Amino acid sequence: MSGGHNEDLFARARRAMPGGVSSPVRAYGSVGGTPRFLESAHGAYVVDADGREYVDLIASWGPAILGHAHPEVIEAVTDAAARGLSFGASTPAETLLAEEISGRVAAVERVRFVSTGTEATMTAVRLARGVTGRDLIVKFSGHYHGHSDGLLAQAGSGVATLALPGSAGVPEAIAAQTIVVPYNDPAAIAEVFARHPGRIAAVIVEAAAANMGVVAPEPGFNALLAQTCHDNGALLILDEVLTGFRVGPAGYWGVQQQTGETYAPDLFTYGKVIGGGLPVAAVAGRAEVMDLLAPVGPVYQAGTLSGNPVAVAAGLATLRRADAAVYAALDATSAALQAEVGAALEREGVPHVIQTAGNLFSVFWGAPVAGGVPDYETATRQESFRYAAFFHEMLAQGVSLPPSAFEAWFVTASHDADALSRIAAALPAAARAAASA
Ligand code: PMP
Repeated sequence: MSGGHNEDLFARARRAMPGGVSSPVRAYGSVGGTPRFLESAHGAYVVDADGREYVDLIASWGPAILGHAHPEVIEAVTDAAARGLSFGASTPAETLLAEEISGRVAAVERVRFVSTGTEATMTAVRLARGVTGRDLIVKFSGHYHGHSDGLLAQAGSGVATLALPGSAGVPEAIAAQTIVVPYNDPAAIAEVFARHPGRIAAVIVEAAAANMGVVAPEPGFNALLAQTCHDNGALLILDEVLTGFRVGPAGYWGVQQQTGETYAPDLFTYGKVIGGGLPVAAVAGRAEVMDLLAPVGPVYQAGTLSGNPVAVAAGLATLRRADAAVYAALDATSAALQAEVGAALEREGVPHVIQTAGNLFSVFWGAPVAGGVPDYETATRQESFRYAAFFHEMLAQGVSLPPSAFEAWFVTASHDADALSRIAAALPAAARAAASA
């Protein structure tokens, strides 16, 4: 399939920007071919530089739960923009957004806004170190928490896609403060705390892992982390940048509370949905911990564009619109899509497993993983080449999937019967391509 204008645009972009992109996975490195350069988006669809429309299953990597360019969000943003783009001062809407978040998540009393998920987790880690007076951070292999120095070790998302152990440019002394352990492994957690008594400031975990494909925590695992942290004077940072307000009105933590898995993280990180497609992210938690942030406490954090009024307007409009009906639509669409994909792959005999965490899901490819994927080591054994073949056939038929087998698939509340039937029509040929890859 020719990329048309996309090829010229990519060639030109590569002369102007490293790899032609502002974020690595967009370069299609692991699936090959020419990235589509997008000109616009509406509802469940994106439109490329050739004027070609695709059903979108990336949803800006999560934020667009309502669908692209939702009229209420666009109106809120347009109104806010007309009143000025940035003041570098407090605004009434910021407090409303903080209240919307704490109103949904009972364990949140205070919210500090930043602009990216990377800043949110970086701030949470600094806060945990400030609270405990300790340096060590524990993270899980295959979990992605943004690109701050200390959190890139054995990370998911683009780091997994490019099969990197971490990143060049991270000082050894900083990397040494991060201990990486396998996910869903209670013994590894007990062992790491036993090995470093009184030295671990925090465990940071994705509420449900979704940056190595989707790998939900085993029942009781997040609660065990909270308990172990609290028994040892450490904090649990629950990273809900991807899951927060997408998998349910109170994030994955809320989903777990509803199923009777109660535990109290000390800090939450949010992003994506709370900005509705503009740059808003946050660290949030109990007042007692959060009030250690400047100007109340000694842990410094700041941002010229933090709480930006246009971005906050997008987030507030999105969250206010995201009612029970929106979550029901996301759940139903995700379930329908999983069934269609599963059936198409079965028909062609493609070994696979579809894993979910609430309405998030992804497909792992090939016999080595078909029994289920509990951790990163297992995820890396999947046959990514089958996904590359599947991805390109879907793209050729007008369905845009994440350009990596290590990412979740994202639906929106705008994916209606028409969008789903376009996807269903593309699946048989894509499944055949995966089978013969
Ligand atoms: N944490 C998680 C769980 C994420 O999925 C991401 C981004 N996908 C981040 C942090 C980093 O967010 P950002 O890309 O906004 O820096």
